Amino acid sequence: MIEQAIQRAARDLVQAQYGIALTGAGISTESGIPDFRGPSGVWTLNPEAERRAYRSYQEFMENPRGWWENTLARPDHFSLGDIDKAMPNQGHYILAELEKMGILKCTITQNIDALHEKAGTVNLLEYHGSVAKLRCLSCGSRFRRDAFDLEKLARENQLPPSCPRCKGLIKTDGVFFGEPIPGDVAEQSLEAALKCDLMLICGTSAVVYPFASLPRIARQRREVTIIELNAEPTPLTEEGISDYLLQGKTGEILPRILKEVKKLIS
Ligand code: NAD
Ligand code: ZN
Repeated sequence: MIEQAIQRAARDLVQAQYGIALTGAGISTESGIPDFRGPSGVWTLNPEAERRAYRSYQEFMENPRGWWENTLARPDHFSLGDIDKAMPNQGHYILAELEKMGILKCTITQNIDALHEKAGTVNLLEYHGSVAKLRCLSCGSRFRRDAFDLEKLARENQLPPSCPRCKGLIKTDGVFFGEPIPGDVAEQSLEAALKCDLMLICGTSAVVYPFASLPRIARQRREVTIIELNAEPTPLTEEGISDYLLQGKTGEILPRILKEVKKLIS
C-alpha cells in the first residue's frame, strides 16, 4: 500500500508546475534533534524549558540586556541540545535535490536547526527563524551568529548587540512564542501557499499557528495536491486538508519517492 502511495506522490511531483515543501520537527528527528511534544520531546522531559520558552519574548522585550546576559551565561544557550553539531539526514538532502531538479520551487520550514540550509536547499523560508542567525528587530536585517563576538560584548558590558545597519536591537533569529512571524517570511510563505499547485508536508503535527494555516489556505483551492508524509496522522489528515498521507519516516520515504521520480523522468 505504501508502495502505491509512493508512486502516486512521485507522479504528482513530476506533474506539478509549482511544488513546494513544508517541514516541521519530524524531518530532523533522524538527525538526532528531538521534537518538543513527542514522547522523548524536549518539553515532555523538561517542563521548565517549556515554561521558560513561553516567557522568553516578554522577558526579552522588558530587559534585552538581562536576557542576553542570562542566555550567554547558560551553557546550552541556543538550546535544543547539540543543534549546532547536527547534520542533515536523507530527508533534508532529498528535498534539496528535488529543488535542484526544479520540482520543488521552495521549502518553508518551521525548524530553527538550519539543516535544510546545510543540506543545500536554496529557496528556503525559515518561518520560525534559524539558530545560525541573529535578527534586528528594527530593520529586520539578519546576520550570521558569528558576525558578532557575543562573549566579547558580554565581557565589555556592551549587551545587547546593536544592528550595524540601523543601531536597532538585535535578538536571536528564532521566533519566540508570542513574537510576530517576521514580515518578509510571513509574506513570502503566504504567497507560496497561494501560488503552489502541490504541497508536500513533511514531519509536522501542524498544530502551531500561523504556520499551520498555510496548508489550510492552499486547500481553499480544490485543485491543489496536498501530500502529507508523517510518522502518524495529524489534524490535516483528519480534517481532509491533505489528499493522502504517506505514513512513515521522512528519511526512509523521501529517498523512495525520489527513486520513483527519477524513473518517471528518465
Ligand atoms: P511537532 O513535534 O509538533 O510534530 C512533529 C511530527 O513529526 C509529529 O507528528 C511526529 O509524529 C512526526 N515525526 C517525528 N519523527 C518523524 C520522522 N522521522 N518522519 C516523519 N514524521 C516524523 O513539530 P512541529 O509540527 O514542527 O511543531 C513544533 C514547533 O517547535 C515548531 O514550531 C518548531 O519551530 C519547533 N521545533 C523545532 C525543532 C527543530 O528545529 N528541529 C525541533 C523541535 C521543535
Ligand atoms: Zn537594523
